[in-house]
Amino acid sequence: MKADISVSKEDYLKAILEAESEGQTVISATLAHWLAVSAPAVSMALRRLKRDGYVEVKADGVVRLTAKGHEAAYRTALRHHLIERMLSEMFGMPWYEVHDEAERLEHAVSPAFEALLMKRLGEKGTCPHGNAVLPETPEKRKKRGVRPLAEAAEGARYTVTSLYERDPGLLKFLHRTGIEPGGTVRVLQRNYDKTVGIETVAGQFTIGPAAAEKVQVRRVQGRG
Ligand SMILES: [Zn+2]
Repeated sequence: MKADISVSKEDYLKAILEAESEGQTVISATLAHWLAVSAPAVSMALRRLKRDGYVEVKADGVVRLTAKGHEAAYRTALRHHLIERMLSEMFGMPWYEVHDEAERLEHAVSPAFEALLMKRLGEKGTCPHGNAVLPETPEKRKKRGVRPLAEAAEGARYTVTSLYERDPGLLKFLHRTGIEPGGTVRVLQRNYDKTVGIETVAGQFTIGPAAAEKVQVRRVQGRG
């Protein structure tokens, strides 16, 4: 668990916005889980965010961003996205390391530097994890032919389109199993216990549902 003090207002707002864009309902317990902070710390933060007009908390406990909260959250998400791309595209930092670095740097970027990054990189591209500024709902992904590796068909070959990036431990694990954005995964076997046998450039592995749910893939057409 992180020290509660290191989680800023921006971190809360960004986590709420990302969850909303993924089509999830946000309550205080989910925030505690995502940000790895204690329940009392979340209550305190939400009280402050509400007082300052960033969020609304309804009687059912659901947390929603106000227009002001949405604006602030999007700015933070955009800064995170631009810094990840800067680290990866300009400095060649590996994709499984950029997220943590961007988490630290996103709070230190001045508006002038942010404008320079925007001019150089733009708002449209994808980050080294294959993600746009904001995540999509699973329904929207399916419309593009993209689904979680957990739902992939036995015997088929897939291209990895994106990875869930808010869990640094997951990214390091995926890196060790050869799963990376743009890489190829062949599904060898789907098991009763929801584990999936896969083959990647790094060899053969069995991965559990917690990881397989967080890797998005698109089927490779043709032989394979
Ligand atoms: Zn990313």
